[in-house]
Amino acid sequence: MSLAQEQPERGPRQKILVVEDESDIRELIRYNLEQEGFAVEEAASGSEALERIKRRAPDLMVLDLMLPGAPGLEVCRMVRAEKATRALPILIVTAKGTEVDRVLGLEMGADDYVVKPFSPRELVARVKALLRRAGARGESQRAGSYERGRLRIDYDTYQVFVDGKRIDLALREFELLRFFVEHPLRVYTREQLLDMVWGRDTFVEPRTVDVHVRRLRQHLERDDARPELILTVRSVGYRFNPEALD
Ligand code: CA
Repeated sequence: MSLAQEQPERGPRQKILVVEDESDIRELIRYNLEQEGFAVEEAASGSEALERIKRRAPDLMVLDLMLPGAPGLEVCRMVRAEKATRALPILIVTAKGTEVDRVLGLEMGADDYVVKPFSPRELVARVKALLRRAGARGESQRAGSYERGRLRIDYDTYQVFVDGKRIDLALREFELLRFFVEHPLRVYTREQLLDMVWGRDTFVEPRTVDVHVRRLRQHLERDDARPELILTVRSVGYRFNPEALD
């Protein structure tokens, strides 16, 4: 298959920065990402990574936690502290894979992680998923608003209208609604919703999701005792059904 076939009218290739001091692993990651049509840059240390990012931010960073010089977690924290790179998707690679590492990584602002030894296929799948998520966020910001049937959301002012009347949502309720709107029809577990909407705040209980869903239903459903918009999928999670808005 030629490269032209793999990249149909996608414009410039997405750029991934791979930060890893072990050259074998760096090469392996590069090879697999390039096979998928990504442009890959490499850095062998945390300081090199930070320099490269400063020059030109990549679309995503794959970051090993065990690095000479600035450790991966420190790189993570510094990237998040800069306004220009605050939203840069970060996939961490950890050799330890302990709960502590995972939680620390997510707390320091990583978006997802893989544990060594990982399969290249898994790594590529996670890179793609993160880019999709980042793309969806970008689109909704560009779009500025969402409108369907009874519901209108203004992403710039964080205002939500149902049947033309403005409703008051807490920030996290707003973010949960935004997530549902951007990911219709698929079923999400409470844990997935926590990951996607609450993100780094990993110590929130899954029940919190139920509380927020209940509040959204009170505002959005015609009859919140018989929800049609945010559906409960028994013993799995929730599904957003935008057709109920029409
Ligand atoms: Ca390493």
